Amino acid sequence: MTTSIDIEEAPTAERVTPDHEVIIVGAGFGGIGAGIALQRRGIHDFVIVDKWDRVGGTWHANTYPGVAVDIPSFIYSFSYEQRGDWSRVFAPGEELRDYADDMVDKYSLREKLRLNTTITSAVFDEHNSLWRLTTDGNEEVTARFAVMAVGGLERPKMPDIAGLDDFAGTLMHTALWDHDVALAGKRVAVIGTGATSLQLVPAIVDEVEHLTVFQRTPIWVFPKFDMEITGLSRWVMERKHIRSAVRLIGTVATEVGMSGMLTGPSWLMNLSRQAAEVPTRAWREARSRIR
Ligand SMILES: Cc1cc2nc3c(=O)[nH]c(=O)nc-3n(C[C@H](O)[C@H](O)[C@H](O)COP(=O)(O)OP(=O)(O)OC[C@H]3O[C@@H](n4cnc5c(N)ncnc54)[C@H](O)[C@@H]3O)c2cc1C
Repeated sequence: MTTSIDIEEAPTAERVTPDHEVIIVGAGFGGIGAGIALQRRGIHDFVIVDKWDRVGGTWHANTYPGVAVDIPSFIYSFSYEQRGDWSRVFAPGEELRDYADDMVDKYSLREKLRLNTTITSAVFDEHNSLWRLTTDGNEEVTARFAVMAVGGLERPKMPDIAGLDDFAGTLMHTALWDHDVALAGKRVAVIGTGATSLQLVPAIVDEVEHLTVFQRTPIWVFPKFDMEITGLSRWVMERKHIRSAVRLIGTVATEVGMSGMLTGPSWLMNLSRQAAEVPTRAWREARSRIR
């Protein structure tokens, strides 16, 4: 089947020249990575727009207690910019945000940034073969190509729970953590036991007076082999070849373990789930600490 689309393009000579060749919306890891890739291909006429006042996206927005990567830091970084100086196996969020800043400086992206600017609409002008993007300041920015690196985990979505609006206590979403709220001595409830909750709960459990964790669907959890990287382990991880090997092994193990548990052949699903069973029991026992 063939499909034809009628587009009334202006002759090349009559077309409006866009402000930029490329506009990237979002200055998280996705946007920064896209900017680096463009520079490497010799494309320098681009801007990176972000609504926040700082780069890092997810890692700028999420500052809740315990925020960290949930795969080892040696895997969670650009392949061409691996680091040996992460402070922990699972680096805290602010180190990831600083890493994003370092990438921006190292690859001369700072001058490409337009921060504090929200894109409110994007319309393709077929006649001139360009994108027309509008900012929250009602300014139009045009570009031949638009890259939407807008992510998804820096925008809080409150759960649809009846009566939530009438809750008399303090209500917080982890992606909008209010550091002025002191949890010490308070009765706290955490809704959810996903990756974020697994970081938050251990970080606050000893501080609060009483903690209740609500879980709708049981999850599979592996032990978290987290530790500080100092001394010998730092020396080892600063060796490029060792780091690359650890990254390769870690990536394969993570992918096989995670996807095997969900979609792999039955022997792999069973193996992955058995490996996860042990810490699940440990987690249940640890609940006795959650008063
Ligand atoms: C606590 C936590 C731990 C995580 N751990 C891992 C992990 O271990 N491994 C992993 O692979 N992933 C992890 N993630 C997922 C993480 O979000 C991604 O890895 C990655 O950071 C997403 O980058 P991004 O650039 O695609 O999006 P984001 O980081 O979300 O960046 C998007 C950017 O777009 C901007 N933006 C959005 N809309 C607009 C608009 N209309 N106008 C202007 N700007 C806009 C936002 O302000 C934001 O800065 C984790 C996420 C969280 C929250």
